[in-house]
Amino acid sequence: MSESSRYQPQAIETGWQRAWHDNGLHDTPELKAGDDAFYALSMFPYPSGNLHMGHVRNYVITDVVARVQRLRGKKVLHPMGWDAFGLPAENAAIERGVDPGAWTDQNIASMREQLNQLGLSIDWQREVATCHADYYRWTQWLFLQFLDSGLAYQKDATVNWDPIDQTVLANEQVDSEGRSWRSGALVEKRKLRQWFLKITDYAQQLLDDLSKLEGWPERVRTMQANWIGRSTGAELQFSVVDAAGNDTAERITVFTTRPDTIFGASYVVLAPEHPLVAQLTTADQEIAVEAFCDLVSRQSEQERTAEDKPKRGVPIGAQVRNPANGELIPLWIADYVLADYGTGAVMGVPAHDQRDFLFARQYELPVQQVIIPEGCDEHAFEGGAWTEAGVLIHSGRFDGLPSGKAKQAITAAAEAEGWGQEKVQFRLRDWLISRQRYWGCPIPVIHCESCGVVPVPADQLPVELPRDVAFSGKGGSPLAQLESWVNVSCPCCGKPAKRETDTMDTFMCSSWYYLRYSDAKNTSLPFSREAVNSWLPVDQYVGGIEHAILHLLYSRFFTKVLRDRGLLSFDEPFTRLLTQGMVQGITYKNPHTGKYIAPADVADPSDPRDPVSGEVLETFYEKMSKSKYNGVDPALVIDKYGADTARMFILFKAPPEKDLEWDDADVEGQFRFLQRIWRLVDSASERGLSLAAGAGGPEAVAQALAAGSLNPAEQELRRAVHTAITEISDDLDGDFQFNTAVSELMKLSNAMGTHLEGSGDVFACEALRTLLILLAPFAPHLAEELWLKLGGRNASEALASSSIHAQRWPSADATALVRDTVPLVIQIKGKVRGNLEVPADADKATLEKLALESEIAAKWLEGKAPSRVIVVPGKLVNLVP
Ligand SMILES: [Zn+2]
Repeated sequence: MSESSRYQPQAIETGWQRAWHDNGLHDTPELKAGDDAFYALSMFPYPSGNLHMGHVRNYVITDVVARVQRLRGKKVLHPMGWDAFGLPAENAAIERGVDPGAWTDQNIASMREQLNQLGLSIDWQREVATCHADYYRWTQWLFLQFLDSGLAYQKDATVNWDPIDQTVLANEQVDSEGRSWRSGALVEKRKLRQWFLKITDYAQQLLDDLSKLEGWPERVRTMQANWIGRSTGAELQFSVVDAAGNDTAERITVFTTRPDTIFGASYVVLAPEHPLVAQLTTADQEIAVEAFCDLVSRQSEQERTAEDKPKRGVPIGAQVRNPANGELIPLWIADYVLADYGTGAVMGVPAHDQRDFLFARQYELPVQQVIIPEGCDEHAFEGGAWTEAGVLIHSGRFDGLPSGKAKQAITAAAEAEGWGQEKVQFRLRDWLISRQRYWGCPIPVIHCESCGVVPVPADQLPVELPRDVAFSGKGGSPLAQLESWVNVSCPCCGKPAKRETDTMDTFMCSSWYYLRYSDAKNTSLPFSREAVNSWLPVDQYVGGIEHAILHLLYSRFFTKVLRDRGLLSFDEPFTRLLTQGMVQGITYKNPHTGKYIAPADVADPSDPRDPVSGEVLETFYEKMSKSKYNGVDPALVIDKYGADTARMFILFKAPPEKDLEWDDADVEGQFRFLQRIWRLVDSASERGLSLAAGAGGPEAVAQALAAGSLNPAEQELRRAVHTAITEISDDLDGDFQFNTAVSELMKLSNAMGTHLEGSGDVFACEALRTLLILLAPFAPHLAEELWLKLGGRNASEALASSSIHAQRWPSADATALVRDTVPLVIQIKGKVRGNLEVPADADKATLEKLALESEIAAKWLEGKAPSRVIVVPGKLVNLVP
């Protein structure tokens, strides 16, 4: 084999990447009326500076989707950008004194280069970075839309406070023991006035519209529904009584989904932060209550509500009256009740709620059973909480009612008697968007003593982040310390005023970036209505399951608010969603020491042992990570095998939504497959075959078919070609079974290895042309190179129109799949004695005649007529002598 005919991906890939870029091959075409548009989108990355295998999988999947749609004649938008604000840049600034902006820009440049090495068909002209002023200007503009709609407001909320550094900490800066990442101080909770977006106003719509998202994984829709958490129940009021047991005017309102259990309430619990706690605590309980509130203030919400944590509480000394039966029951505070969820108060019904049951057992509170399973004896109750529906007992006039009817009857009675009403409640709470950090989008408002909160006028946007900031990690937010930036005059009255120093949660920036791509260069609006409505909703969104809740929910919320503002005219931003699985690496762990061992240090993978102690190691697959030494660097794989092999392996190894186990042998296997295709084309080229001037294209093939019949090799070849077209087209529709599509490519190349030689030029060219086009989305560089080599394009032609990626997806010829003849099994007295090729449409009589005339019959029957003939059409003929 000559030197020039070896497959050397490194020699061709960067060349094609440059040529595609220089010829604008991936630029987004302009949309005209009636154009078929397709928007393929990957979730944009945080620019950490390093591309990992999880990114590669995400972007390669989206790239194949985008390339297939282009081949199908759609006008495709396939952009990329950077979710570029956030904590790592600020931490780098505090630790190493680097400028967060410069640090981020460097990371972006290096990751863009790494992405380009994968051969992704991205339109870089629409690149956005959320930390650049030409983007965050519009994030601020959109915030002002929310403010104007009454959907942005301020209220007090709790933050993590580092008492040594005197600074607010993000949750990620607090370790599992509740200490500051930097000072090591035990973190405290403090109340600060912060900004919220009123996502709860859209709770019902966000829930209802999940039914429109048929192209989303069911599991993601369920996660969103659970997060929104709609429940129907009742708000019931318990009167606070004075020391003498008489009702006061004060009432405690609780929310419950089980009003049918109210007769079983044996206590009421307030959140420790409930505004009535201080007022209602009796003198003898003051010390205990204060100590308890102090303890709870140091716990995170998650610690307070985690299911496996014991619940703690104290009585505050006061009593309330159960409105249903008039009984007096004690008032408690407990860690598991949160102030900003529901009414901040719940009734404790230990017999019918597991959490209340454990709490009552711990603090020796009475357990009163009021529901029994239908058809059951009330004395059968054996200790645990009965949390299902049943029939009421010990419930006065409601005794004997089933739970469902009792809920309605008790709620109706409460409404009639003035102690309650029906209520729908959502678990979803308003979105806290304030961050007391530097590296984020400044909230564009000014605080004036006379005018209150004043929005920064639109023509003064963006409120730019000042760059001359000192980062110490101590004291207040770096922005608050910069007086020259904070002090401004009020846009309304002109008096001295102060800028808001909070920046926005980075989820704000990522809630609308997919809209900006439709019109990324617009300098007068975040996007024009025309552009956003013509490209969106996104046809296919691809990203990690870790964003199944917040990012997707916030983006859906943004879309609905902007729709209601008249800025766009669709209800949902993402029509189809694919959540790709993880990439896992082989992982070795010493079960005794718990230490992970790098694969390079394992001498014999078939008997993995600790390099130091010789102990046998545990072997398993786990998500790639630095701490487990199981990562594979994409750059090294590309260096060794090329991007096409990396892409083929990732697509072939597992269906996209499933986890993928990295396997070097399978990577090698894909490399060999691409080499085989290279050699196949090489020998076709030596034979003199050329795809120039439409050779092997639909017209040439139609002419050849009209002109005459096909030889057996040609028939087999065409059947393989058109089976591949049918199967791969199916695999790329809907569920994206890339792995089986690659298998079909392998089958086609095998069939070509067998039948190409015996086929005439037209059909050989049809097979070659088809193979290369079907391969193009998966291995774009190799397909382009072989397309050129076979004369599919002339090197002097414009690449934009003659590239393999500018061709049309082939359509299957159903007649090629039809078989003219089929094999028929000939049995003599039930034993298989041979096969016969017979016409596929032969009837029973013809099959019997052909079988009797065959050489097989002549040999085994020795001229005698059979006593019996059994014909199974399409399968066999059995001759019984
Ligand atoms: Zn003012």
